[in-house]
Amino acid sequence: MIRLAIQKSGRLSEDSLNLIRECGISFLSSSYKLKTEATNFPLEILFLRDDDIPGYVQDGVADLGIVGQNVLVEAGFPDLEVEKLGFSKCRLSLAILRSEGYNSVADLQGKNIATSYPQILGRYLAGEGVQANLHTISGSVEIAPSIGLADAICDIVSSGSTLLGNGLREVETVFRSEAVLIANQNLSAEKQELLEQLQFRMQSVRRARR
Ligand code: ATP
Ligand code: ZN
Repeated sequence: MIRLAIQKSGRLSEDSLNLIRECGISFLSSSYKLKTEATNFPLEILFLRDDDIPGYVQDGVADLGIVGQNVLVEAGFPDLEVEKLGFSKCRLSLAILRSEGYNSVADLQGKNIATSYPQILGRYLAGEGVQANLHTISGSVEIAPSIGLADAICDIVSSGSTLLGNGLREVETVFRSEAVLIANQNLSAEKQELLEQLQFRMQSVRRARR
C-alpha cells in the first residue's frame, strides 16, 4: 500500500482527483473524510492542506504528494519532485501600486515587500543584487500596498484581475509554477515499484490529453 497526500479543498483538489481517476484508480471520496482507500490499486489517499504536504512527504508520513512547485520550493524540498503534472499553472510576480514609476528591479532596493513566499523571493532578489525588507504575511497580500503596509508585493498571479482591483501592476515574474508529483526519497522497493506504475499511468494520461 502506498500513501498519497493531496489538497483537501482548493485549487489543486479537483485536478488531482481527476488525474487519479483518469489513471484508472477508483475510490470513494466524501468531503468529510480525511483519507480513503482505492478499490483497485494499493493506494491510500490523504486529504491535507497543501502547505503541509511537502513536510509530510519529506518525513515519510506520506509516501507521495501532489502540490504546487511554489509551495514545494518555498518549503525547501525541491528535490522531492518526480513528475510535472501540467495543471495549476501560475506565476509568482512582483507588483507595485499603479501610480508608482518603475524602471527595473533595482527600484525595489531598500523597499518593503509583503509576500507569503519569503524564501523564493529572497533568493530571486539576491540573484538580482537587490536588498529589500521582506514582510511575511499569510493571506490578503494584495491589499498591503494600498493600506501602507508595503511598497510592493510578491504573490501568485493568474488573471491579473485581483491586482487590478487592488490598484496594482505586475512588474516582474519571480517564479513559474505548476502542480508536481513528489515522493519520499527512501521508499521501499515495493513502494518504488508502485510509484513507477503510477508515473507510467500519469504520463499516459498526459499524452492522451494532448
Ligand atoms: P490550503 O487551504 O490547502 O492551504 P491555499 O489557499 O493555500 O489552500 P489554493 O489557493 O487552493 O491554496 O492554491 C493551491 C495551489 O494552486 C497554489 O499553491 C498554486 O500552486 C496553485 N494556484 C494558486 N492560484 C492559482 C491560479 N490562480 N491559477 C492556477 N493555479 C493556482
Ligand atoms: Zn495553502
